[in-house]
Amino acid sequence: CGIVGVLSNHQAAPQLVEALRRLEYRGYDSAGIATINEGKLERRRAVGKLVNLSDLLVHEPLPGKSGIGHTRWATHGAPSVENAHPHKAGSVAVVHNGIIENFRELREEVAAAGMSFVTETDTETVALLTQMYMQEGAAPVEAARKTLDRLDGAFALAFLFDGEEDLMVAARKGSPLAIGHGDGEMFVGSDAIALAPMTDEITYLEEGDCAVLTRTSLEIRDENGELANREKRKIELSN
Ligand code: GLU
Repeated sequence: CGIVGVLSNHQAAPQLVEALRRLEYRGYDSAGIATINEGKLERRRAVGKLVNLSDLLVHEPLPGKSGIGHTRWATHGAPSVENAHPHKAGSVAVVHNGIIENFRELREEVAAAGMSFVTETDTETVALLTQMYMQEGAAPVEAARKTLDRLDGAFALAFLFDGEEDLMVAARKGSPLAIGHGDGEMFVGSDAIALAPMTDEITYLEEGDCAVLTRTSLEIRDENGELANREKRKIELSN
């Protein structure tokens, strides 16, 4: 339901939780974050209100300056910790808004490739498919792009990868996504309001766009894979 992402110069976890708080008005049944901690993606997830996630983070902190977060409104699979985002397969973590319509087909394909599912969600298919392409030799960005080409439905997605602290892939099809520009930092939010504490310089992705972010660069391609020029605007965001 809500997506946030940070390639930050500060600790990601508090920034992610604060950004998710700004998306609470949309409603949700569970929440979670993943950060890259010493090169490895690690997650914390909790059912119910964000305070359950922030309490968990007090007892089990999650260091790291790159991260993604999600508030979930379940469409496929009950609200549970296992089904909460971020989803992870091998070295890929994904947060997702919306629905992957053809997930059953894709599920069969990745299962046939010997990969096993641990959740009931449509989203896990995205992580597994990306991981499958990486196992076949694709680099992270290429694997994410190949996966995006396979997905039907309305969605917004953000991907992080083990060992890639300065890389995020974000994509939009039928579900909004904004990129926030910081000073040597880059942010992602399903609503720019989530990014208000971090920046007021926003680039909105357009339908079918796929963005590759580092802390100092943003490359956006349109649905045909062509480099796209999207305006950066200064927007008024209330705190
Ligand atoms: N379809 C996904 C799920 O059920 C994402 C739902 C959402 O947009 O929060 O996990």
